[in-house]
Amino acid sequence: MELIIQNLSKTYSNGVHALKNVNLTIPKGMFGLLGPNGAGKSSLMRTIATLQEADSGSVTLGSLNILKQKHETRQILGYLPQEFGVYPKISAETMLDHIASLKGIQNAQERKAVVSELLDRVNLAHVKKKNLGTYSGGMKQRFGVAQALLGNPQLIIVDEPTAGLDPAERNRFYNLLSEIGENTIVILSTHIVEDVTNLCSNMAIICLGEVIAQGNPNDLIAEMQGKVWRKIIEKRELDRYRAEYQVISTQLKTGKTQIHILKDNQPDDTFQSVEADLEDVYFSRISEKMSVVTL
Ligand code: ADP
Repeated sequence: MELIIQNLSKTYSNGVHALKNVNLTIPKGMFGLLGPNGAGKSSLMRTIATLQEADSGSVTLGSLNILKQKHETRQILGYLPQEFGVYPKISAETMLDHIASLKGIQNAQERKAVVSELLDRVNLAHVKKKNLGTYSGGMKQRFGVAQALLGNPQLIIVDEPTAGLDPAERNRFYNLLSEIGENTIVILSTHIVEDVTNLCSNMAIICLGEVIAQGNPNDLIAEMQGKVWRKIIEKRELDRYRAEYQVISTQLKTGKTQIHILKDNQPDDTFQSVEADLEDVYFSRISEKMSVVTL
């Protein structure tokens, strides 16, 4: 079953055109929605999660019309929002039990079993009696996943989940999400390219409310192979290079500036060929979009 988004548009009352005719087909597995801050990712996630209305377009999952059948959608949806607040003085176990009863699991024994299995799955069983306020950022995120997984959702949306996690916590979180993505549609919205590289079999890049690329990350990278060139320059030379070449990224390296440019062939032998990666894809697509807008 695929999630199909067609011609979805949204303009907020302040005039911001946050989604412009978005078309996406999202199959089972981990799907990365990548874009800079303000691109429209949360607007899209909140719309799919039935938390806000679109102006036009449709979102369907099999025979389910997500924009119209909100109640039915909420039954099959797990959502981990960007700002995930927890009640600090309640334990994970009590809170999950409460959410499980809200999600319609009436039988106390059944709830207990479901909650216990979920706590195991997100590796929080050993701290299940502790108040949520004492949890680290990573533990709170894993608790967020547990609540999103209650009721065996067919569609899971996680919005910017790794912001604020340390590298070890981020890794644990990656592992957890990959496991979940084996049987479900998981949409992972993020501005962190590494999240998508590590996790996603399909992806889209969104910028200024528009989908500017979509596909399998490896296919998108393959299209760029042989066209990315690297050079170390002085910082003061950057403007000159920007004027002459399509500079897709700059990185400070031991006081010098390393640039990546996009060009079909080697500009001259001061440029070295580099193997393209998803960051090159991301930054080149974004810079192309931005330059069209600013011209
Ligand atoms: P992202 O999640 O990619 O950072 P958002 O969907 O939050 O992007 O925002 C897209 C654009 O819509 C931004 O310009 C943002 O300022 C604007 N925006 C988001 N939510 C609202 C809102 N409730 N009212 C008005 N403008 C909004």
